[in-house]
Amino acid sequence: MDIRLVQGDITEQDVDAVVNAANSSLLGGGGVDGAIHRAGGHEILEECRALRASSYGKGLPAGQAVATTAGKLPARWVIHTVGPVYSTNEDRSETLASCYRESLRVAAELGARSVAFPAISTGAYGWPAEDGARIAVRTTRDSSVTVGHVRFVLAGERMYEIFERALAETGTAP
Ligand code: ADP
Repeated sequence: MDIRLVQGDITEQDVDAVVNAANSSLLGGGGVDGAIHRAGGHEILEECRALRASSYGKGLPAGQAVATTAGKLPARWVIHTVGPVYSTNEDRSETLASCYRESLRVAAELGARSVAFPAISTGAYGWPAEDGARIAVRTTRDSSVTVGHVRFVLAGERMYEIFERALAETGTAP
């Protein structure tokens, strides 16, 4: 699988599917979630509401992923996944890895050939950036499901460099 890094805005990516670092309500929030709903328009929210009503009355559990239209975004689909909130008492790494794995599974099911990921859980959910990057890169590299191209879209230079190091550490060519 071709893994690349981009410094930029996830809403501007010309890929088949963009992954949203959603919250379990599926009704929008801050950070990536807010940006995707703002740029993508009301269609995304309407589909999220319908999903909530039909399947996720209690919210989408952390580590799972579900797809909607991408509305006005250049992408065809948004894959919503809920990252775990970082905890110092409990190791939630497997849930974070599951976000990447499940998003890739949903992407492959849809027939997406290119997927853009944000650094899930490293914003409002407080995950330490280095560790979040390592989990993102390893899980994607080791995924049994492959799509042609995976792009990590990092909001700033610092996060870009952290992902660069994580790629180098895991022996994945950038
Ligand atoms: P979470 O709640 O999963 O922590 P956030 O959206 O708060 O999700 O943040 C996840 C990461 O995405 C953070 O590193 C944040 O800096 C970054 N980010 C915020 N907005 C964007 C954007 N428009 N495009 C790409 N990355 C973004």
